[in-house]
Amino acid sequence: MIQQQDFEIIIVGGSYSGLSAAMSLGRSLRQVLVIDSGLPCNRQTPHSHNFITHDGEVPAVISAKAKVQVDFYNTVQFYHGLAISCIKIKSGFEVRTESGLSFTAKKILFATGVKDLLPNIPGFAECWGISVLHCPYCHGYEVKAEKTAVIGNGEIGFEYVKMISNWTKDLKLLTNGKSDLTSAQLLILKNHGIEVIYEEIDSFIHESGNIQRITFRDQSKIDVKAVYARPPFEQHCPLPEVLGCELTEMGLLKVDMFQKTNIEGIYACGDSCIQARSVAMAVSSGSFAGASINKTLIDENFA
Ligand SMILES: Cc1cc2nc3c(=O)[nH]c(=O)nc-3n(C[C@H](O)[C@H](O)[C@H](O)COP(=O)(O)OP(=O)(O)OC[C@H]3O[C@@H](n4cnc5c(N)ncnc54)[C@H](O)[C@@H]3O)c2cc1C
Repeated sequence: MIQQQDFEIIIVGGSYSGLSAAMSLGRSLRQVLVIDSGLPCNRQTPHSHNFITHDGEVPAVISAKAKVQVDFYNTVQFYHGLAISCIKIKSGFEVRTESGLSFTAKKILFATGVKDLLPNIPGFAECWGISVLHCPYCHGYEVKAEKTAVIGNGEIGFEYVKMISNWTKDLKLLTNGKSDLTSAQLLILKNHGIEVIYEEIDSFIHESGNIQRITFRDQSKIDVKAVYARPPFEQHCPLPEVLGCELTEMGLLKVDMFQKTNIEGIYACGDSCIQARSVAMAVSSGSFAGASINKTLIDENFA
């Protein structure tokens, strides 16, 4: 039960980056409300890697432990649910939730992450985060030297498969249709023993998310243990754009070196504004956003 309506800061998004910011702000004696709808982007992945002290941990265990630690600071309160609107008011901002509650604050921090837009390939969504992977630093070690396919095309696909070749040499590049690779790139791939398959993908055959085979439109198939793919994404939360926050060309919230957006009083952290997606990066930017907001409030009150 939330005991107040007005806060100094409302953090929308209470996963890794939001909780990290909440810890900085709680330790700075700030009145904070964290609003979280409980849908982090890594929720299907069984084990999260490459975050020191939590390597190989279940993602939800990391955030649950973080929440317990943040909850220790009694100026921080939590609301489980969706923020559906945020408007500018005289004293700052007013946020409304889908259950009809309304809260106000001087500053808003969006730690709302992004939503991956998974392709309509049968089996893809079921394998996402289990055997269809986005990042070799998060999951590459676990599938090192395994039969692996990379979905990509053109310069980006070439760079992606080159990167993955660090973890396995048993590699195929799937362009999933007409190739944009140059003849020079094709020659380099050939010299590294990387086969390029141009056929359109039909389906991913898997068992409980563990991929076994990829089938193609021409009835051909390949056996694989892992696939790397970078699906497009969009902002998980539309509210920053409604408020006028600018996006980068990549669709990330544009922030300055203090995690400030272009709209006075609105900040962002985590995947919503960082290109390199990882728990460590999200936690780092959340911690810094918290310190940055606290410094601004100190300056405003000390004038
Ligand atoms: C499949 C997959 C596997 C991954 N594996 C790893 C790994 O092994 N190691 C690693 O370091 N990184 C991994 N990552 C990356 C890592 O999960 C992200 O970098 C990290 O989750 C970003 O944290 P965040 O707090 O910015 O956003 P998220 O964790 O995505 O959290 C955003 C939160 O905001 C909430 N939210 C959004 N809109 C609203 C709203 N309007 N109102 C209330 N709440 C809202 C969401 O419900 C969610 O809880 C993986 C990512 C994916 C997609």
